[in-house]
Amino acid sequence: MVTMAGSLWHGFADMGSVSTDGPFVVTRGEGARIWDAQGNSYLDATAGLWFTNVGHGRTEIADAVRAQLTTLAHYSGFGDLTADITDALADRLAALAPVPGSKIFFTSGGSDSVDTAAKLARRYWTEVGKPEKTVLVGRTKAYHGMHVAGTSLAGIPANHDGYGQLMPDAESVGWDDAKSLLGLIERVGADRVAAFFCEPIIGAGGVYLPPEGYLAEVRQICRDHDVLFVADEVVTGFGRIGGDSWFASSRFDLQPDLMTTAKGLTSGYVPMGAVFVAPRIAEPFYAGGVWWRHGYTYGGHAGAAAAAMANLDIIEREGLLAEATRLETELATVLRPLADLDAVSEVRTGLGAVSAVQLADPARAQDAVAAMRRHGVSGRAAGQGALQISPAFVMSTAEVGDLASRIGDALS
Ligand code: PLP
Repeated sequence: MVTMAGSLWHGFADMGSVSTDGPFVVTRGEGARIWDAQGNSYLDATAGLWFTNVGHGRTEIADAVRAQLTTLAHYSGFGDLTADITDALADRLAALAPVPGSKIFFTSGGSDSVDTAAKLARRYWTEVGKPEKTVLVGRTKAYHGMHVAGTSLAGIPANHDGYGQLMPDAESVGWDDAKSLLGLIERVGADRVAAFFCEPIIGAGGVYLPPEGYLAEVRQICRDHDVLFVADEVVTGFGRIGGDSWFASSRFDLQPDLMTTAKGLTSGYVPMGAVFVAPRIAEPFYAGGVWWRHGYTYGGHAGAAAAAMANLDIIEREGLLAEATRLETELATVLRPLADLDAVSEVRTGLGAVSAVQLADPARAQDAVAAMRRHGVSGRAAGQGALQISPAFVMSTAEVGDLASRIGDALS
Protein backbone atom coordinates (compact mmCIF):
# COMPACT_ATOMS: atom_id res chain seq x y z
CA MET A 1 0.00 0.00 0.00
CA VAL A 2 1.23 3.53 -0.79
CA THR A 3 2.07 5.55 2.33
CA MET A 4 0.56 9.05 2.11
CA ALA A 5 1.19 10.38 5.62
CA GLY A 6 0.97 14.13 6.24
CA SER A 7 -0.89 16.78 4.23
CA LEU A 8 2.08 18.86 3.16
CA TRP A 9 3.43 18.23 -0.38
CA HIS A 10 7.10 19.24 -0.28
CA GLY A 11 8.91 20.86 -3.20
CA PHE A 12 11.79 18.98 -4.86
CA ALA A 13 11.03 15.79 -2.95
CA ASP A 14 10.26 12.12 -3.40
CA MET A 15 7.02 12.22 -1.41
CA GLY A 16 7.04 8.44 -1.13
CA SER A 17 10.16 8.51 1.01
CA VAL A 18 9.16 11.71 2.86
CA SER A 19 5.89 9.97 3.80
CA THR A 20 7.69 6.82 4.91
CA ASP A 21 10.60 8.44 6.77
CA GLY A 22 8.71 11.52 8.02
CA PRO A 23 9.70 15.17 7.44
CA PHE A 24 12.61 16.96 9.11
CA VAL A 25 10.70 19.61 11.03
CA VAL A 26 12.54 22.84 11.86
CA THR A 27 11.11 24.95 14.67
CA ARG A 28 13.58 27.70 15.48
CA GLY A 29 16.59 29.59 14.16
CA GLU A 30 19.19 31.86 15.73
CA GLY A 31 22.26 33.22 13.97
CA ALA A 32 23.82 30.43 11.91
CA ARG A 33 21.97 27.63 13.75
CA ILE A 34 18.56 25.96 13.59
CA TRP A 35 16.70 23.64 15.97
CA ASP A 36 14.43 20.68 15.17
CA ALA A 37 11.15 19.67 16.78
CA GLN A 38 13.03 17.47 19.29
CA GLY A 39 15.18 20.41 20.40
CA ASN A 40 18.37 19.25 18.67
CA SER A 41 20.54 22.06 17.33
CA TYR A 42 22.30 22.10 13.94
CA LEU A 43 24.77 24.36 12.20
CA ASP A 44 22.94 25.71 9.16
CA ALA A 45 25.37 24.99 6.32
CA THR A 46 23.15 26.45 3.63
CA ALA A 47 21.44 29.50 5.19
CA GLY A 48 18.12 27.88 4.31
CA LEU A 49 18.08 27.92 0.52
CA TRP A 50 20.98 30.39 0.25
CA PHE A 51 19.05 33.29 1.72
CA THR A 52 19.43 33.86 5.47
CA ASN A 53 22.43 36.10 4.88
CA VAL A 54 22.02 38.15 8.08
CA GLY A 55 21.29 35.01 10.12
CA HIS A 56 18.14 33.70 11.76
CA GLY A 57 16.19 35.35 14.57
CA ARG A 58 16.59 39.03 13.72
CA THR A 59 13.88 40.71 15.76
CA GLU A 60 14.80 44.04 14.12
CA ILE A 61 13.40 42.79 10.79
CA ALA A 62 10.29 41.38 12.46
CA ASP A 63 9.73 44.71 14.26
CA ALA A 64 10.09 46.66 11.01
CA VAL A 65 7.62 44.37 9.23
CA ARG A 66 5.14 44.61 12.12
CA ALA A 67 5.32 48.40 12.12
CA GLN A 68 4.74 48.48 8.37
CA LEU A 69 1.89 45.95 8.37
CA THR A 70 0.03 47.84 11.06
CA THR A 71 0.45 51.11 9.11
CA LEU A 72 -0.10 49.83 5.56
CA ALA A 73 0.34 46.14 4.73
CA HIS A 74 0.17 46.64 0.99
CA TYR A 75 -1.99 48.30 -1.59
CA SER A 76 -0.94 48.09 -5.25
CA GLY A 77 2.06 48.73 -7.44
CA PHE A 78 0.16 48.94 -10.73
CA GLY A 79 -0.35 52.13 -12.69
CA ASP A 80 0.67 55.23 -10.74
CA LEU A 81 0.29 53.55 -7.33
CA THR A 82 3.03 52.71 -4.88
CA ALA A 83 3.61 52.62 -1.14
CA ASP A 84 6.04 55.21 0.22
CA ILE A 85 8.38 52.53 1.56
CA THR A 86 8.45 50.69 -1.79
CA ASP A 87 9.40 53.90 -3.57
CA ALA A 88 12.15 54.55 -1.03
CA LEU A 89 13.48 50.97 -1.31
CA ALA A 90 13.72 51.29 -5.11
CA ASP A 91 15.84 54.44 -4.68
CA ARG A 92 18.04 52.67 -2.14
CA LEU A 93 18.56 49.66 -4.43
CA ALA A 94 19.23 51.87 -7.46
CA ALA A 95 22.03 53.51 -5.47
CA LEU A 96 23.63 50.06 -4.97
CA ALA A 97 23.11 48.94 -8.58
CA PRO A 98 26.11 47.89 -10.67
CA VAL A 99 24.81 50.11 -13.47
CA PRO A 100 24.16 53.71 -12.34
CA GLY A 101 20.65 54.96 -12.99
CA SER A 102 19.10 51.46 -13.00
CA LYS A 103 15.35 51.12 -12.58
CA ILE A 104 13.96 48.58 -10.13
CA PHE A 105 11.04 46.29 -10.99
CA PHE A 106 9.82 44.41 -7.90
CA THR A 107 8.63 40.79 -7.92
CA SER A 108 7.65 38.19 -5.33
CA GLY A 109 10.75 36.00 -5.64
CA GLY A 110 13.53 34.70 -7.85
CA SER A 111 11.42 32.78 -10.36
CA ASP A 112 9.27 35.88 -10.86
CA SER A 113 12.44 37.92 -11.39
CA VAL A 114 13.77 35.52 -14.03
CA ASP A 115 10.51 35.36 -15.99
CA THR A 116 10.17 39.14 -15.72
CA ALA A 117 13.65 39.50 -17.22
CA ALA A 118 12.84 36.99 -19.98
CA LYS A 119 9.70 38.86 -20.98
CA LEU A 120 11.35 42.26 -20.64
CA ALA A 121 14.30 41.22 -22.85
CA ARG A 122 11.97 40.16 -25.65
CA ARG A 123 9.68 43.14 -25.21
CA TYR A 124 12.68 45.50 -25.27
CA TRP A 125 13.73 44.25 -28.70
CA THR A 126 10.16 44.67 -29.95
CA GLU A 127 10.14 48.25 -28.68
CA VAL A 128 13.36 49.09 -30.49
CA GLY A 129 12.16 47.60 -33.76
CA LYS A 130 13.83 44.18 -33.65
CA PRO A 131 10.95 41.84 -32.76
CA GLU A 132 12.69 38.90 -34.42
CA LYS A 133 15.26 38.87 -31.56
CA THR A 134 13.43 36.25 -29.47
CA VAL A 135 15.95 33.51 -28.64
CA LEU A 136 16.91 33.27 -24.97
CA VAL A 137 20.13 31.45 -24.09
CA GLY A 138 20.90 29.59 -20.86
CA ARG A 139 23.76 27.29 -19.86
CA THR A 140 24.27 23.65 -18.95
CA LYS A 141 24.01 23.18 -15.14
CA ALA A 142 22.06 26.46 -14.87
CA TYR A 143 19.13 26.98 -12.50
CA HIS A 144 16.82 29.93 -13.07
CA GLY A 145 13.79 29.12 -10.92
CA MET A 146 10.67 27.21 -11.70
CA HIS A 147 8.42 29.39 -13.84
CA VAL A 148 8.07 28.68 -17.55
CA ALA A 149 10.97 30.79 -18.85
CA GLY A 150 13.28 29.81 -15.99
CA THR A 151 12.50 26.10 -16.35
CA SER A 152 13.10 26.36 -20.10
CA LEU A 153 16.46 28.08 -19.52
CA ALA A 154 17.61 25.55 -16.92
CA GLY A 155 20.54 23.32 -17.73
CA ILE A 156 19.56 20.62 -15.25
CA PRO A 157 17.98 17.96 -17.50
CA ALA A 158 15.77 16.46 -14.79
CA ASN A 159 14.05 19.83 -14.29
CA HIS A 160 12.68 19.61 -17.85
CA ASP A 161 11.34 16.07 -17.52
CA GLY A 162 7.68 15.46 -18.16
CA TYR A 163 6.53 18.83 -19.43
CA GLY A 164 7.22 18.65 -23.15
CA GLN A 165 8.59 21.88 -24.60
CA LEU A 166 7.48 24.73 -22.32
CA MET A 167 9.02 27.61 -24.25
CA PRO A 168 10.24 27.66 -27.83
CA ASP A 169 13.28 29.80 -28.58
CA ALA A 170 15.27 28.64 -25.55
CA GLU A 171 18.84 27.50 -26.26
CA SER A 172 21.65 26.19 -24.09
CA VAL A 173 25.44 26.54 -24.21
CA GLY A 174 28.25 25.00 -22.16
CA TRP A 175 28.37 26.53 -18.67
CA ASP A 176 32.13 27.11 -18.76
CA ASP A 177 32.68 27.56 -22.48
CA ALA A 178 32.47 31.14 -23.76
CA LYS A 179 33.24 29.92 -27.28
CA SER A 180 30.07 27.83 -27.30
CA LEU A 181 28.06 31.02 -26.70
CA LEU A 182 29.84 32.66 -29.60
CA GLY A 183 29.21 29.60 -31.78
CA LEU A 184 25.51 29.58 -30.94
CA ILE A 185 25.11 33.29 -31.72
CA GLU A 186 26.89 32.79 -35.05
CA ARG A 187 24.76 29.75 -35.88
CA VAL A 188 21.37 31.20 -34.87
CA GLY A 189 22.24 34.72 -35.97
CA ALA A 190 22.77 37.76 -33.75
CA ASP A 191 19.62 39.23 -35.27
CA ARG A 192 17.62 36.48 -33.58
CA VAL A 193 19.24 36.23 -30.13
CA ALA A 194 17.60 38.38 -27.43
CA ALA A 195 19.48 37.60 -24.24
CA PHE A 196 21.99 35.42 -22.44
CA PHE A 197 21.15 34.36 -18.87
CA CYS A 198 24.14 33.78 -16.60
CA GLU A 199 24.50 32.85 -12.92
CA PRO A 200 27.91 34.26 -11.94
CA ILE A 201 28.38 31.11 -9.83
CA ILE A 202 26.38 28.04 -10.89
CA GLY A 203 24.31 27.47 -7.76
CA ALA A 204 21.61 24.81 -7.57
CA GLY A 205 23.23 23.03 -10.52
CA GLY A 206 26.07 21.99 -8.22
CA VAL A 207 28.07 25.07 -7.13
CA TYR A 208 30.60 25.58 -9.93
CA LEU A 209 32.79 28.68 -9.87
CA PRO A 210 33.32 30.49 -13.16
CA PRO A 211 36.63 29.71 -14.90
CA GLU A 212 39.13 32.58 -14.78
CA GLY A 213 38.13 35.25 -17.30
CA TYR A 214 34.88 33.48 -18.31
CA LEU A 215 32.47 36.17 -17.08
CA ALA A 216 34.36 39.01 -18.78
CA GLU A 217 34.52 37.01 -22.01
CA VAL A 218 30.80 36.17 -22.23
CA ARG A 219 29.96 39.76 -21.27
CA GLN A 220 32.04 41.01 -24.18
CA ILE A 221 30.53 38.50 -26.62
CA CYS A 222 27.05 39.77 -25.68
CA ARG A 223 28.17 43.38 -26.15
CA ASP A 224 29.74 42.61 -29.54
CA HIS A 225 26.59 40.89 -30.82
CA ASP A 226 23.93 43.12 -29.30
CA VAL A 227 22.65 40.35 -27.02
CA LEU A 228 21.33 41.44 -23.63
CA PHE A 229 23.39 40.16 -20.70
CA VAL A 230 21.18 39.01 -17.83
CA ALA A 231 23.04 38.35 -14.58
CA ASP A 232 20.96 36.00 -12.43
CA GLU A 233 22.11 37.11 -9.00
CA VAL A 234 19.33 35.48 -7.00
CA VAL A 235 22.04 33.59 -5.09
CA THR A 236 25.11 35.80 -5.52
CA GLY A 237 23.40 39.15 -4.82
CA PHE A 238 23.49 41.19 -1.63
CA GLY A 239 26.97 40.22 -0.54
CA ARG A 240 27.22 36.46 -1.05
CA ILE A 241 29.80 36.88 -3.82
CA GLY A 242 32.32 38.30 -1.33
CA GLY A 243 34.98 40.82 -2.33
CA ASP A 244 33.13 43.40 -0.19
CA SER A 245 30.73 43.69 -3.13
CA TRP A 246 26.95 43.87 -3.16
CA PHE A 247 26.78 41.91 -6.43
CA ALA A 248 28.95 39.69 -8.62
CA SER A 249 28.16 42.18 -11.37
CA SER A 250 29.95 44.85 -9.32
CA ARG A 251 32.85 42.60 -8.32
CA PHE A 252 33.46 41.57 -11.95
CA ASP A 253 32.31 44.83 -13.55
CA LEU A 254 29.74 43.03 -15.71
CA GLN A 255 27.45 46.04 -16.30
CA PRO A 256 24.41 43.76 -16.78
CA ASP A 257 21.51 44.93 -18.94
CA LEU A 258 19.21 43.12 -16.52
CA MET A 259 20.01 41.69 -13.10
CA THR A 260 17.63 39.34 -11.28
CA THR A 261 17.62 39.21 -7.48
CA ALA A 262 15.56 37.84 -4.56
CA LYS A 263 16.74 35.78 -1.51
CA GLY A 264 19.36 38.08 0.11
CA LEU A 265 17.23 41.16 -0.61
CA THR A 266 15.22 40.35 2.53
CA SER A 267 17.46 37.53 3.81
CA GLY A 268 14.33 35.45 3.23
CA TYR A 269 12.38 36.94 6.13
CA VAL A 270 9.57 37.80 3.71
CA PRO A 271 9.38 36.76 0.03
CA MET A 272 10.53 39.48 -2.36
CA GLY A 273 12.51 39.82 -5.57
CA ALA A 274 13.69 42.65 -7.79
CA VAL A 275 14.92 43.06 -11.34
CA PHE A 276 17.52 45.76 -11.86
CA VAL A 277 17.07 47.29 -15.32
CA ALA A 278 19.91 49.27 -16.90
CA PRO A 279 18.82 52.74 -18.12
CA ARG A 280 19.37 51.86 -21.79
CA ILE A 281 16.84 49.00 -21.48
CA ALA A 282 14.34 51.03 -19.47
CA GLU A 283 14.47 54.05 -21.76
CA PRO A 284 11.97 52.95 -24.46
CA PHE A 285 9.45 52.16 -21.71
CA TYR A 286 9.85 55.62 -20.17
CA ALA A 287 9.48 57.52 -23.46
CA GLY A 288 5.71 57.84 -23.07
CA GLY A 289 2.94 55.90 -24.76
CA VAL A 290 4.27 52.43 -23.88
CA TRP A 291 2.29 50.45 -21.33
CA TRP A 292 4.12 47.30 -20.24
CA ARG A 293 1.35 44.90 -19.23
CA HIS A 294 3.38 43.03 -16.64
CA GLY A 295 3.47 43.02 -12.83
CA TYR A 296 2.59 41.00 -9.75
CA THR A 297 -0.04 41.75 -7.09
CA TYR A 298 2.61 41.50 -4.40
CA GLY A 299 5.50 43.04 -6.34
CA GLY A 300 6.98 45.68 -4.05
CA HIS A 301 4.77 44.54 -1.15
CA ALA A 302 5.06 47.17 1.57
CA GLY A 303 5.71 44.64 4.35
CA ALA A 304 8.41 42.97 2.25
CA ALA A 305 9.92 46.36 1.49
CA ALA A 306 10.13 47.02 5.24
CA ALA A 307 11.94 43.69 5.69
CA ALA A 308 14.36 44.60 2.88
CA MET A 309 15.07 48.01 4.41
CA ALA A 310 15.80 46.50 7.83
CA ASN A 311 17.92 43.77 6.20
CA LEU A 312 20.00 46.34 4.29
CA ASP A 313 20.37 48.37 7.52
CA ILE A 314 21.82 45.30 9.25
CA ILE A 315 24.21 44.50 6.39
CA GLU A 316 25.51 48.07 6.37
CA ARG A 317 25.65 48.63 10.14
CA GLU A 318 27.34 45.31 10.93
CA GLY A 319 29.69 45.38 7.94
CA LEU A 320 28.35 42.04 6.67
CA LEU A 321 29.81 42.43 3.16
CA ALA A 322 33.20 42.20 4.85
CA GLU A 323 32.03 39.18 6.85
CA ALA A 324 31.07 37.40 3.60
CA THR A 325 34.56 38.20 2.35
CA ARG A 326 36.00 36.69 5.57
CA LEU A 327 33.95 33.55 4.89
CA GLU A 328 35.41 33.33 1.38
CA THR A 329 38.87 32.81 2.90
CA GLU A 330 37.82 30.79 5.93
CA LEU A 331 35.64 28.33 4.02
CA ALA A 332 38.46 27.72 1.55
CA THR A 333 40.92 27.06 4.39
CA VAL A 334 38.77 24.64 6.37
CA LEU A 335 37.03 22.85 3.48
CA ARG A 336 40.02 22.15 1.19
CA PRO A 337 41.43 19.36 3.44
CA LEU A 338 38.13 17.47 3.05
CA ALA A 339 39.23 16.68 -0.52
CA ASP A 340 41.56 14.07 1.04
CA LEU A 341 38.61 11.96 2.22
CA ASP A 342 37.76 8.88 0.14
CA ALA A 343 34.13 10.02 -0.04
CA VAL A 344 35.10 13.37 -1.58
CA SER A 345 36.31 13.87 -5.14
CA GLU A 346 36.75 17.64 -5.13
CA VAL A 347 36.17 20.79 -3.07
CA ARG A 348 35.07 23.86 -5.01
CA THR A 349 35.75 26.99 -2.99
CA GLY A 350 37.46 30.36 -2.91
CA LEU A 351 34.85 32.73 -4.34
CA GLY A 352 32.37 34.33 -1.97
CA ALA A 353 30.50 32.67 0.87
CA VAL A 354 29.69 29.72 -1.41
CA SER A 355 31.49 26.39 -1.63
CA ALA A 356 30.81 22.77 -2.53
CA VAL A 357 32.12 19.49 -1.19
CA GLN A 358 31.73 17.15 -4.15
CA LEU A 359 30.95 13.54 -3.25
CA ALA A 360 32.85 10.91 -5.20
CA ASP A 361 29.64 8.91 -5.45
CA PRO A 362 26.68 11.22 -6.17
CA ALA A 363 24.31 8.32 -5.51
CA ARG A 364 25.30 8.60 -1.82
CA ALA A 365 24.13 12.23 -1.55
CA GLN A 366 21.08 11.57 0.64
CA ASP A 367 23.15 9.27 2.89
CA ALA A 368 25.69 12.08 3.26
CA VAL A 369 23.00 14.63 4.14
CA ALA A 370 21.59 12.20 6.73
CA ALA A 371 25.06 11.59 8.19
CA MET A 372 25.65 15.34 8.43
CA ARG A 373 22.41 15.70 10.37
CA ARG A 374 23.53 13.00 12.80
CA HIS A 375 26.67 15.12 13.28
CA GLY A 376 24.71 18.32 13.93
CA VAL A 377 24.83 19.94 10.49
CA SER A 378 21.80 20.79 8.39
CA GLY A 379 22.94 20.50 4.78
CA ARG A 380 21.78 19.78 1.30
CA ALA A 381 23.10 18.27 -1.93
CA ALA A 382 22.94 20.28 -5.15
CA GLY A 383 23.60 19.13 -8.72
CA GLN A 384 25.24 15.71 -8.81
CA GLY A 385 26.20 15.08 -5.18
CA ALA A 386 27.64 18.50 -4.35
CA LEU A 387 27.20 19.35 -0.67
CA GLN A 388 26.25 23.03 -0.70
CA ILE A 389 28.07 25.20 1.84
CA SER A 390 26.61 28.71 1.92
CA PRO A 391 26.24 29.82 5.54
CA ALA A 392 24.86 33.03 6.97
CA PHE A 393 27.43 35.83 6.93
CA VAL A 394 27.28 35.85 10.74
CA MET A 395 28.69 32.32 11.06
CA SER A 396 31.68 32.84 13.36
CA THR A 397 35.22 31.69 12.66
CA ALA A 398 34.84 29.03 15.37
CA GLU A 399 31.56 27.82 13.87
CA VAL A 400 33.13 27.61 10.39
CA GLY A 401 35.87 25.35 11.79
CA ASP A 402 33.28 23.29 13.67
CA LEU A 403 31.19 22.99 10.48
CA ALA A 404 34.11 21.56 8.50
CA SER A 405 35.13 19.11 11.21
CA ARG A 406 31.55 17.85 11.61
CA ILE A 407 31.21 17.39 7.85
CA GLY A 408 34.56 15.61 7.84
CA ASP A 409 33.39 13.26 10.62
CA ALA A 410 30.10 12.65 8.83
CA LEU A 411 31.81 11.70 5.57
CA SER A 412 34.61 9.61 7.11
N1 PLP B 1 17.61 31.97 -9.98
C1 PLP B 1 18.56 31.37 -9.26
C2 PLP B 1 20.00 31.52 -9.67
C3 PLP B 1 18.24 30.61 -8.13
O1 PLP B 1 19.20 29.98 -7.43
C4 PLP B 1 16.88 30.52 -7.75
C5 PLP B 1 16.50 29.75 -6.55
O2 PLP B 1 17.29 29.07 -5.94
C6 PLP B 1 15.91 31.15 -8.52
C7 PLP B 1 16.31 31.88 -9.64
C8 PLP B 1 14.46 31.04 -8.17
O3 PLP B 1 14.16 31.72 -7.01
P1 PLP B 1 12.83 31.39 -6.19
O4 PLP B 1 12.98 30.00 -5.65
O5 PLP B 1 12.79 32.47 -5.14
O6 PLP B 1 11.68 31.51 -7.12
